[in-house]
Parts: sequence; C-alpha cells; structure tokens
Amino acid sequence: MRVRDKVVVVTGGASGIGRALALRFAAEGAVGVVVADLDEAGAQAVAGEIGDRATAVQVDVSSEPQVAALANTPFGPVDLFCSNAGIIGGHGLDAPEQEWTSLYAVNVLAHVYAARAVVPSMIARGGGYLLNTCSAAGLISCPGDAPYAVTKAAAIAFAEWVSIHYATKGVKVSVLCPQGVRTAMLAHGIQEDHVTARAVAASGVILDPSDVATAVVEGLEAERFHIFPHPEVAEYARRKSDDPDRWLAGMSQFVDTLTQPRFATPI
Ligand code: NAD
Repeated sequence: MRVRDKVVVVTGGASGIGRALALRFAAEGAVGVVVADLDEAGAQAVAGEIGDRATAVQVDVSSEPQVAALANTPFGPVDLFCSNAGIIGGHGLDAPEQEWTSLYAVNVLAHVYAARAVVPSMIARGGGYLLNTCSAAGLISCPGDAPYAVTKAAAIAFAEWVSIHYATKGVKVSVLCPQGVRTAMLAHGIQEDHVTARAVAASGVILDPSDVATAVVEGLEAERFHIFPHPEVAEYARRKSDDPDRWLAGMSQFVDTLTQPRFATPI
C-alpha cells in the first residue's frame, strides 16, 4: 500500500508520532492529510507545515460523533485512517477507576469509533486501510502503568478482530507497536516519574518519531499486519506466531532480555 494519492486522517496528529506520520504521509504524496487532535493550535501548526494538502480538525477521540465527523474530509473519502491519539496514566493496582475509564475511552474506544466511521464506506469503495497505534506495552510484560498496558493489549486485540472480519472485504488493518519514542508523552512520563517511562528511559533505546514514520511507510508498503519499530518487539512477535510451547519459551526469553540487562536498574 502506497500513501501516494491517498486521503489520510491522523488522530493525535499535533504532536510526536502523529505529527511525524502526518508530515511523512504528505512527503510521500498523500493527496490530503487531516491532522486531527484535541490540541487545535498544534494541529493547525502541523497542517500549516504541510500546506494546501492538509487541514486541521479539533477532535476529542473519546467522542464517537466527533470521530465519525472525521470521515467527511475536504479531500474526499478516507483511504487510510490512523487512529494514533493515546494517553498514559501512571498507576498500578492503585489506579483510580476514572483512570481506567479515561484510558479505555481514548486508547480503545477511539479505535472502535474510527473503524465504525470508515469501514462501511471503505468496503463500498472496494477497500481501505486502518493503522492503529498500540504499544509494545500491550504485547510484553510491561512494568508500571496497569491501565496503559491493559488498554493497549485490548487495542491490539480489537485490531486483530477487525482484520479477521474485514480483510476479505478489502479492509486491511495494521498495528503499530512502538516501544520508547522521544515525544511529549515520554518526556511527561519521565518528569512525573512513571514506572513505564522510567523503564523505557533505562532501556537506552529511544527512537525519534521520524524513525517510527519510516517504519510505518515501509510496513504499509509491505502490507505488514504488525509494524514494530524495534527489532526486539518484532522478534517477540515472530516467536509468538510459532507453536505455543515455543511461544511461551520465546516470551520468557523476551522478558529476560528486557529485565537483564536492559532493566537492570531497579524500577
Ligand atoms: P504525544 O503526547 O506526543 O502525542 C499524543 C497526541 O494525542 C497529542 O497531540 C494529544 O493532544 C493527542 N490526544 C490525547 N488525547 C486526545 C484525545 N482525547 N483526542 C484527540 N487527541 C488526543 O505522544 P506520542 O508518544 O506521539 O503518542 C502517540 C501514540 O503512540 C499514543 O497512542 C501512544 O500511546 C503511542 N505510543 C507511544 C510511545 C512512546 O514511547 N512515545 C510508545 C508506545 C506507544
């Protein structure tokens, strides 16, 4: 799948990974890029960097009517919807119920709303693409933030569900699983001393958002279902796709790799 001449929506497009995706899709020749974010000024700034082929929309992705409205773009029907906006909490078992529900709304339900908004018209037009930003935290035994890890795992499960049900109708879903990217989210997490962010920082493997955008463009061109910017995460997924015994062995080996030596610092 090439982005050239496609109409693309990117939620969370004002900052970090979403901003890098919006800029990269424009550079790849997208015919229209909708930069959607809660942060209206930030979205306008990114759309301004792109120029005529972009528009900014303020959206709260936890609102279904607002996400549904993103399907009506000034550039025509959506070919690629990147459901990328996400939030992180900062708690373990002590996470307040409000944190569970707000993370569930933004990190999971927003993907459901996006699929509901565009999948029927994509099927009617012969196909389309969804790219859902999840996280390595939804794949591995991630230390720290319980609602974040659980909602990201749910987001991966939802993407797989959509893929299973709609691939034969031409709708392809890719899951982006980053693991430590230099963005406002990571900086905020480190500042607030979140365990997940501290663990990522201690790993010493932090990518630039533009590296992730490159992995996405290559992943979409190869029509890969899972897009892993980090080789360790890709290796884990490769093991997972093998038989169950090997998968369990692979998982413990992967967790070992993460805990020693990369997470040698107590967290
Ligand atoms: P970021 O904070 O730079 O960007 C997130 C953007 O989402 C912001 O512009 C924010 O305004 C927007 N947003 C938040 N809530 C919103 C809402 N309700 N409606 C609309 N927009 C909203 O962070 P980022 O690191 O670029 O995060 C992008 C995605 O990548 C998230 O889903 C995040 O969970 C995921 N991710 C990030 C990392 C990392 O290390 N940075 C690792 C794994 C996964």
